[in-house]
Amino acid sequence: MFARLAARARELEIETRPEHPDLAAALARRWDELPAHVKTPNQMLGRRTAGCEGTHGVFPRCNLACTPCYHSRDANRVRVDGEHTVREVNRQMEQLRRERGPGQNAQLIGGEVTLLSPDDHAAALQAMVAHGRKPMSMSHGDFDYAYLEALALDPRSGRPRLEHLSFAGHFDSMMYGRRGIKRAASEAALNPYRKRFCEMFDRLEREHGVTHYLAHNMTVTPRNLDQVAGVIRDCRDMGFRMFSFQPAAFIGNQSRWRDEYRAFSSEEVWQAIEQGAGARLHHRALQIGDSRCNRTAYGGYRGDRYFPLFDEDDARDLAFLAQFLEAYGGMDFAAPKALLAARLARGIGARPSVLPRAAGWAGRLARRMGGLRAVRREPPRALTYVMHSFMDARDVRPAWEAIQRGEVSEDPAIRATQERLQACSYAMAHPESDTLVPACAQHSVFDPLENLALMRELPQAPPAPSA
Ligand code: SF4
Repeated sequence: MFARLAARARELEIETRPEHPDLAAALARRWDELPAHVKTPNQMLGRRTAGCEGTHGVFPRCNLACTPCYHSRDANRVRVDGEHTVREVNRQMEQLRRERGPGQNAQLIGGEVTLLSPDDHAAALQAMVAHGRKPMSMSHGDFDYAYLEALALDPRSGRPRLEHLSFAGHFDSMMYGRRGIKRAASEAALNPYRKRFCEMFDRLEREHGVTHYLAHNMTVTPRNLDQVAGVIRDCRDMGFRMFSFQPAAFIGNQSRWRDEYRAFSSEEVWQAIEQGAGARLHHRALQIGDSRCNRTAYGGYRGDRYFPLFDEDDARDLAFLAQFLEAYGGMDFAAPKALLAARLARGIGARPSVLPRAAGWAGRLARRMGGLRAVRREPPRALTYVMHSFMDARDVRPAWEAIQRGEVSEDPAIRATQERLQACSYAMAHPESDTLVPACAQHSVFDPLENLALMRELPQAPPAPSA
């Protein structure tokens, strides 16, 4: 009896800590590993997050064609197999939980996730949750409400088996084969499909109470750079909570490389994003990994008025952010109310000065939103803008090999690639070697061989004999 009480007390003590001790240890390790050039006061890796995670080799196949496509040529020759998927997801997530602690964002990514049956898809998400991940399904969005409903609901009881779904919908005019619009003549032509995607999740929430978080992903090439702003303007009220843009890179399937992807700079893409957002975006307030890889601007809208979560020019906001990180680090705010209150209280107890700074920041944030009265009249909604710039395979391969040999390349381009790989914020687990691999290296170095092996393990079914 006494032992049981003591064990529960110990559990409670850990649960109410702002940071789980496994996460605190993982963040400290990540911070130690980071190269010096990214250890800046605004760096979130190793302080707030261990980084994003993604699956690999679990369902490489896709039924749309993208130009470019980051998957290797043989991806479509691998059969989608639910048992394989769930087994591999479990193995990879188990490693990620062990090395990176709980509460990290992980993408269930292939391939096209909705080629899995709803039951296998749900089982993969449940496995991720069981390993302490916050899963997001990456999809082209070309599926029906019946699939979504079957994914969310338990087929036996008809009640939700997943209370919340997080999806990233990839929509852009370089994708071919979408039902109803095989070839989109422009980005605007895809807007009804973007809207339909959001509406399916709204309906699921209305009918079954399953909540959602939706991100919009879009590859940017010379063909659609001038349409980025229009996509944001037309779609930012549809229900997406994040717009993420990926300037195209020469990576993956070479036969799908169409244009001169280096014809424009990341800066130009960001300017287009800001044009669409209708405001300057404060991406320097927080940095995740290397700024050549990632820009993230947290903020939102009240009506048409954009507000940044942190003003990167205001030293008081940055001072609050520093205190917040010291008090709460990687704390998970998605917790039951009582637990959240206990964690917040412990953070304040450890660092009381965070409280007046938080109050000051909240006041400034309310003013950026237009004042408290305006906020009460029209509540704000959060919207995050992201630009993620993958690297070209021709640079990643030698850079990755040099890292494995413990060398620093003399070639400035390869050295820069090494620096970015070492500060990577998007990793994939390799349980067979107990290593974590940056997604750029995964797609440039590992995918081709991995898919060849999977082709042998999971060959496509031979065509049915004709009668
Ligand atoms: S190294 Fe590649 S995968 Fe990692 S953050 Fe940079 S661009 Fe993304």
